Amino acid sequence: MKMYVGGAWVDSPVMAPVISPYFRETVDTVPEATPDQVQQALAAAEQAANRMAQLTGHERSQILNRAADLVAARVEDLAKTISLEEGKPLSESRGEAGRMPDLLRLCAFEGSQLRGETLPLDAQVATKGKLGFTLRVPCGVVVAITPFNYPLLLVVHKIGPALAAGNAVILKPARQTPLVALKLTQIFLEAGLPESALQCITGSGAKLGKLLCADSRVRKISFTGSTTVGEMITQVAGVKKLSLELGSNSPLVVLPDADLSAVAAATAVGGFVNAGQVCISTQRVLVHRRVYGDFLEAVKKPVESIKVGDPLAEDTRLSAMISEADAERVGSWIAEAVAQGARVVTGGERQGAIFAPTVVADVKPGMRISCDELFGPAVAVTAVDSIDDAIQVANDSRYGLGAGIFTRDLDSALKFARRVQSGNVMINWTPLWRADLMPYGGFKQSGIGKEGPRYAVEEMTELKTVVFHGVDA
Ligand code: NAD
Repeated sequence: MKMYVGGAWVDSPVMAPVISPYFRETVDTVPEATPDQVQQALAAAEQAANRMAQLTGHERSQILNRAADLVAARVEDLAKTISLEEGKPLSESRGEAGRMPDLLRLCAFEGSQLRGETLPLDAQVATKGKLGFTLRVPCGVVVAITPFNYPLLLVVHKIGPALAAGNAVILKPARQTPLVALKLTQIFLEAGLPESALQCITGSGAKLGKLLCADSRVRKISFTGSTTVGEMITQVAGVKKLSLELGSNSPLVVLPDADLSAVAAATAVGGFVNAGQVCISTQRVLVHRRVYGDFLEAVKKPVESIKVGDPLAEDTRLSAMISEADAERVGSWIAEAVAQGARVVTGGERQGAIFAPTVVADVKPGMRISCDELFGPAVAVTAVDSIDDAIQVANDSRYGLGAGIFTRDLDSALKFARRVQSGNVMINWTPLWRADLMPYGGFKQSGIGKEGPRYAVEEMTELKTVVFHGVDA
C-alpha cells in the first residue's frame, strides 16, 4: 500500500514489509517515510487545518457519519486486515471493527456540540460595560501516534474526535500495523473529508516521531503507546497540548465473598484477550488468603479451555503475540519469577510467537512479572490479607490505568473505588472493560488526559475568551 501525504497516495524510496506474526508471511508493504515527506505532511496539514476550520459542525458530522456507514459496510475486510497484521483472533477483530461505526457516530455528534459560555464579568469591580463569552475552537494540526494492539479502535479514538472538532490530523500508526489505518484513511477521503485533512504517514516511530512531535506547526499530540515512548515525547514536544495513553499492570482484587467460578471465568477473559496485549489487561490478581487455593483451583479449567491457534479460524480465542521476541520476553519474565519462588499453575510453554495462556502463583509484588507491564497472556497471582492490604498492594505501582474488584460487600467495593489509584475502576468485573463513550485514561505513569468522544473533543479543542468593551445596553 502507499501512504497518504500532501493530498496524494505516495511511495518512498524504501518500502517495509508488514509481516503476519502468526503466518510469518508478508501481508503487504508500506513506505518508510523520509524526513522530506514528513515536512510535506506538516505543510499540507497546516493548509488543511484552515480548510477544516471553515466547515460547520453540521458539515463535519455529515463526513463522519458517512465514514461510519462506509466502515459498517467493510467490517469483514477491516477485521481480516487486523487479524493478519496484528495476529489477534478474527472473532476479536470483528468486535474491534464492528464497534467503529457507533464510535464514529458518537464523535460526529460530540464534534458538532462545541459550546462556550457567557462570563459573569460584572461580578468583579470596574467591569461595567463589558460583555464576555468563550468560544471552543479547534487546535489546528493534531499529530496522532498509535500502538499495534488495537490498530483500528485506537486510531478512531483519536482521529474521530480530532476531525469532528475541526482539526487536521497527521496519523502515524504503529510500524507493525499500518494497513488498517491506511484503509481507514481511504474511507475518510471517500466520505468527503477535505484534501490532507487526514494524512497517514508510515515508518519507524523512532525516526519520524521527533520530526512530528517537535514541530511548532503542531498544536496537539495525541499518543497511545508505552510509557517509555510517552516520556520521550514529553521531552521533545515543547509548548503543545499533550494527551498520553500509556501502559499499565492492572490489578484485580478477589475478596472471600466473591463467586469464585464467576471470577475464574472473567479472569480467563480479562487476562487473555488479544494474548494479554491490552493496556487494561488483568495482570496482577490479588486474592484474599482465605480463598487463595480455591481460586487457583477454579481458574485452571477456564484458562486451559482457551482455544489456541490460527487467528483466522472461527473458534480460536488466543493466537500469536505481535512478535516471537515478545513471546520470548514473556517466557523469560515467568522463568525469572519461578527462580524467585513463584510457580506455574498452568501454561508456561511457547511455540514461536504463541505463548500458552498461563497462570503464575505465589508471585511477590517486587517480581518483574508483577511490577512491570507484562503485556502478554499470563496472570500473576498474589495472596493478600484484607481489603486494606489489597488496596495497598494494588497501589504499589507506578501505573494506574485500570483496576477491578470482585466482592458482594458494598463497603469494600466503595472503599476500593475511592482509594485505588486508577483511572478506571470495575466493580465485579476485571479491569478489562471499556465502553467507547466513557472517559478513559490513566493516573500516574499511565498517562495524561482522557479519551472517549466527549472528553477527547474537549482535549482536541481550545477555549478562547472574547470580551466586548464599551457595551452600554
Ligand atoms: P510503542 O510505545 O512501542 O509504540 C507506540 C507508537 O509510538 C508506534 O506508532 C511507534 O512507532 C511510535 N514511536 C516509537 N518511538 C517513538 C518516538 N521516539 N517518538 C514518537 N513515536 C514513537 O507501543 P506499542 O508496543 O505499539 O504498544 C504497546 C504499549 O501501548 C503498551 O505499553 C500498552 O499498555 C500501551 N497502550 C496503552 C493504551 C491506553 O489507552 N492507555 C492503549 C493501548 C496500548
